[in-house]
Amino acid sequence: MSDADTVSALDALLPQTQCRQCGYPGCLAYARAMARGSADINRCPPGGESVAADLAGRLALPVQPIDRSCGPGRPFTLARIDESRCIGCVACIRACPVDAIIGARGRMHTVVESECTGCELCVPACPVDCIELVPMPFPGKGGEGRGEDPDAFLRAWMAERAPRARARFERRAARRASRRKTLRGREADALQGAERAAVVAAAVARVRERRRAAGRGRR
Ligand code: SF4
Ligand code: SF4
Ligand code: SF4
Repeated sequence: MSDADTVSALDALLPQTQCRQCGYPGCLAYARAMARGSADINRCPPGGESVAADLAGRLALPVQPIDRSCGPGRPFTLARIDESRCIGCVACIRACPVDAIIGARGRMHTVVESECTGCELCVPACPVDCIELVPMPFPGKGGEGRGEDPDAFLRAWMAERAPRARARFERRAARRASRRKTLRGREADALQGAERAAVVAAAVARVRERRRAAGRGRR
């Protein structure tokens, strides 16, 4: 199996909340680090012990308890914006790794609850502290109640929501990469333009200097 296959297999075991509690900028980055042997398998609090055991099995490593220094392993939550206090600064949109917040600058923002992973990254980003976290309903049909069994909740999440969260994270990453490329292209164009202008200015100065010198020679 190739390295890319190993990364995909590990990524498929992760909950895709993209919360960064593992210390990496998303589940895929953590999967890559595990595949190259530079990260332990016990760093995903949302996945808890069952995901750590799956990762250990996949890599034929010993099972380890979750490293609680990564985060509290809380139950899944949803973000909710107090729209009466939102000032429309768009900071939460920039922070959300799965594009689960909609709104325009200077306007009220709102969370698309069906897409929120509860990663909490928008909460510290809000300058007026108007985002709260509420319990996430059981993923899937009906969405009623949280259920008593955290493993059943995680299984339902992995089947129902994780693939969508991964797809939204990847789309956002691709969009941001394309924007960075466009900006780099514009900067390169501007630099080329400035360099061309400098070359032309130097040529004009040389011609003027030659003419002045020729004029002095005739006198
Ligand atoms: S769910 Fe969070 S902690 Fe777990 S791998 Fe993904 S980003 Fe890391
Ligand atoms: S709305 Fe907030 S908590 Fe929900 S996914 Fe986006 S950043 Fe995370
Ligand atoms: S960060 Fe807070 S104030 Fe700014 S748009 Fe989001 S919810 Fe509104």
